[in-house]
Amino acid sequence: MIIVIHPDATPYEIDNITAEVEIQGWQTHISRDSGQTVIGLQGSGQTIDRFQLGQLPGVQSIIPITRKFKLASRNFRPEDTTFPVGNTPVGGNQLTVIAGPCSVESREQLLETALAVKAAGATMLRGGAYKPRSSPYSFQGMGEEGLKLLAEAREVTGLPIVTEVMSPTKVALVAVYADVLQIGARNMQNYDLLNAVGKIHKPVLLKRGMSATIEDLLMAAEYILKHGNNQVMLCERGIRTFDNKYARNTFDVNAIAMLKELSHLPVIADPSHAIGVRRHVQAIALSGIAAGADGLIIEAHPNPDEAVSDGPQSLTLPQFSEMMNAARQMAQAIGRTMKW
Ligand code: PEP
Ligand code: MN
Repeated sequence: MIIVIHPDATPYEIDNITAEVEIQGWQTHISRDSGQTVIGLQGSGQTIDRFQLGQLPGVQSIIPITRKFKLASRNFRPEDTTFPVGNTPVGGNQLTVIAGPCSVESREQLLETALAVKAAGATMLRGGAYKPRSSPYSFQGMGEEGLKLLAEAREVTGLPIVTEVMSPTKVALVAVYADVLQIGARNMQNYDLLNAVGKIHKPVLLKRGMSATIEDLLMAAEYILKHGNNQVMLCERGIRTFDNKYARNTFDVNAIAMLKELSHLPVIADPSHAIGVRRHVQAIALSGIAAGADGLIIEAHPNPDEAVSDGPQSLTLPQFSEMMNAARQMAQAIGRTMKW
């Protein structure tokens, strides 16, 4: 259940409403986004007399939420969540484009990519310094040295940095360098990690686990939101289905449309990890935009065939620029904008 507070309610009235439900055994979560104050009820208190509660001064309306996810739900917050990352907004009409290599490999590789993706219109730079690899013998990332290179690339280009954090013990360190903390698919249900990123006030890109349902993803977001960090982007990056011969994963375009309906959080499409095949990344990116995604995350590399990770799905820099032209046309066709 959420209690929508009247715009003219006084702090005293809000305290009184909170006390009234807490006394009945509920925990409360106050959200004050975009000028609207709402109180979310969590836990399992006594049955609330909605009529009586609705009579309290300061209560505008009461909305029952029967879904498991509450703070992530559109019932809780009907309007789209938007927040700035650097000086670009996420979640509004303008599409976000996060681009860069799968892994940070060297200063030269990162800077060349960062300058090219910026010139093509990307709004954020991605690059993994801590890499979750299926094999322990594969490249594991440059670690803090990679984070420093990302920070240098931000200095040069002005692009905010998106990078993965794999463990709760590394959250504080990664947060020193990153503008957005990425939770990878393999960690979507690492609840210690979700709690840790919920407690810091930095935006989070939460990638859908490869076998996670739409509800699993929203419940994972709920862990982060519960701590008061409501700067969460949901990312559809492809799920495991029965064909893995031709495509790496199955891009769940349905999930994009459904997530936009079920949740107020921005949704980002990751066609690179979804299809895993460079020549088809553009088509899948366009389908994500058409389905209502608020942005894309795309892997690009100066020389993908030499990339230490995810080369087969990484676009060359000219291909990235070409994809951006197509994305601009798609955005325009559905009434969305791109930065340039
Ligand atoms: C990545 O973004 O490079 C990555 C490892 O993604 P995912 O967690 O979706 O596999
Ligand atoms: Mn990758």
